[in-house]
Amino acid sequence: MMANEADKSQPSQELAIVLAVRQARKASELTPTGHCGYCGTALAGELRFCDADCRDDYERQALRRRYG
Ligand SMILES: [Zn+2]
Repeated sequence: MMANEADKSQPSQELAIVLAVRQARKASELTPTGHCGYCGTALAGELRFCDADCRDDYERQALRRRYG
């Protein structure tokens, strides 16, 4: 019975890797780099894109990459 409880309290190694990858991907998407995520233009402050056009193009490109 103690073994079963230990198994439940710890996620499998596979699950831990999946979660780590998901977390890393999320962080890289949300963290402002100081440059436009689409065209690379230097940006001030917390901006991730020059404007809505760059953001839309970036998202379109990301979707195409994801779904072929
Ligand atoms: Zn841009």
